[in-house]
Amino acid sequence: MALIVHKYGGTSMGSTERIRSVAKRVAKWARAGHQLIVVPSAMSGETNRLLALAKDVSPAQQTAAMLRELDMIACTGEQVSVGLLSLALQAEGMEAVSYTGWQVPVRTDSAYTKARIQSIDDARVRADLAAGRVVVITGFQGVDEDNNVTTLGRGGSDTSAVAIAAAMKADECLIYTDVDGVYTTDPRIVPEAKRLHTISFEEMLEMASLGSKVLQIRSVEFAGKYRVPLRVLSSFTPWDIDITEEAASGTLITFEEDEKMEQAVVSGIAFNRDEAKVTVLGVPDKPGIAYSILGQVAEANIDVDVIIQNVSHDGKTDFSFTVHRNDYQRTLDLLKTKVLPATGAAEVLGDAKICKVSIVGIGMRSHAGVASTMFRALSEEGINIQMITTSEIKTSVVIDEKYMELAVRALHKAFDLDASIEPTAESAD
Ligand code: ADP
Ligand code: ASP
Ligand code: MG
Repeated sequence: MALIVHKYGGTSMGSTERIRSVAKRVAKWARAGHQLIVVPSAMSGETNRLLALAKDVSPAQQTAAMLRELDMIACTGEQVSVGLLSLALQAEGMEAVSYTGWQVPVRTDSAYTKARIQSIDDARVRADLAAGRVVVITGFQGVDEDNNVTTLGRGGSDTSAVAIAAAMKADECLIYTDVDGVYTTDPRIVPEAKRLHTISFEEMLEMASLGSKVLQIRSVEFAGKYRVPLRVLSSFTPWDIDITEEAASGTLITFEEDEKMEQAVVSGIAFNRDEAKVTVLGVPDKPGIAYSILGQVAEANIDVDVIIQNVSHDGKTDFSFTVHRNDYQRTLDLLKTKVLPATGAAEVLGDAKICKVSIVGIGMRSHAGVASTMFRALSEEGINIQMITTSEIKTSVVIDEKYMELAVRALHKAFDLDASIEPTAESAD
C-alpha cells in the first residue's frame, strides 16, 4: 500500500462530468489498495471569473487590505471543487472528506496573492486516511498565523499538492493535467513538440521559472527540497486504463544526473510574456549606480529579472532591466519620481511589448556553441535580440513580443527538437 497524492488542474475539473471521471480514477487507485489524497484546482475559468468580479468592484487592487479580500474571493473556487469531488467520490461508493486549506491547516506567510507555505499539519489528514477515507484538500490556498485566508499565486495548486505530498511523506505525487506530460515546448505553440519521458529536476526548475506553466515553479522547488517523486500525466486518458500503465505514463521528474549520456544538448524551450522592460537613459557611470537604481526597486518589493548596463559614453550609460508586467507601471513611476532626481539620469523609457525566450538543457554544461546556434537561428528569422542572459543550463533572450512564436518554432527546429529525442518507455525496450 502506498500513499499517493493526485492533483487535478482546472480543465481536468472543468465540468461535473469531468469531476465524475476524476472520482472514478481516484476510486480505481484507492481500490487498488492505496491511500489517496486529492488536491483539485478550481473548475477551469473560475479563478479568472472570481478575480474579474473583484476587479469590477475595485479596479485598483494594490493595498494589503485589498489583496486580503482578493484572496478571500479567489479561494472559493477550490472550495467548490473539493466539495463536488468528495460528493462524486461518495457517489462512487468511497468514503471521502473535503477540507479547505485553513481546516487542515496549511500555514502560510501573509503575502496575500503570493503566499508561501510554511508548514502543514498532518494530524487530521492522517486520521482520515487511517480510517479508510479519501481526503480531498483545496489547492492554491492556506491560512496565515492570524487566520487570514491566503492564496499561493496563479497555478498554485501544483505547489499545494507537492507540499502536501512532502508533509505527508507520500510515495508519489501525480500531477494530472490536460497534456500527457512535459513537452519540449508548449505543444499549443509548437504542435511538433515532443513529450519528454523524463526531465531532470534542474531542467524542470528552469523550464518552470522561465515560463512553462505546466508546473508552478514553487511546486518544483518543493519537490527538489523534499525529494518528492513527481510525475506529470494526463487526466484525459480513459479513467479505467490499467493502473500500472497509468503509473508509468507522462513525464517523471528525476533527481539523478542519470545515464542519459546521449540526451539532446537542449531539452526544452520556454517563453514568457509576463515581463516588461524599463530603461534609464543617461545615468552617470560611477560606482554605486546599479544600487541606486535597483536598491529603490527592491525596496518597493519589485522583483527584477534580466539586467544589462551599456558601455559608457562621456561618463554616462544606459541601464535596462525587466520586471513583471504587473509591476511595470509602478516601476516606471518609481524611476521617474525617485530615481531620476536622485541619480541625475536623463530619461526613463519603458516597453511592455517584449517577451523572453529561453533554451534549457543540462547538456549545455558540456557543449560549447549552444548560445551561438540560438543567436544564428534568431538572426536567420530577422529577429533582433534586445537582451541576453545565461546561466549554466539556460540561455534567455528578450525580443519583441510579436516574434515570440516565430522564435520558439525556429529554436525548436534549430536544436532538432522536432525529431524525437528520447526513447519512450514503450520503445526503449
Ligand atoms: P492545469 O489546469 O492542469 O494546472 P495548466 O494550464 O496550468 O494546467 O498547465 C498545462 C498547460 O501547460 C498545457 O495545456 C500546455 O499548454 C502548457 N505548457 C506550457 N509549456 C509546456 C510544456 N513544456 N509541456 C507541456 N505543457 C506545457
Ligand atoms: N485556481 C488557481 C488558478 O487558476 C490555482 C490553480 O489552478 O492551480 O490559478
Ligand atoms: Mg496549472
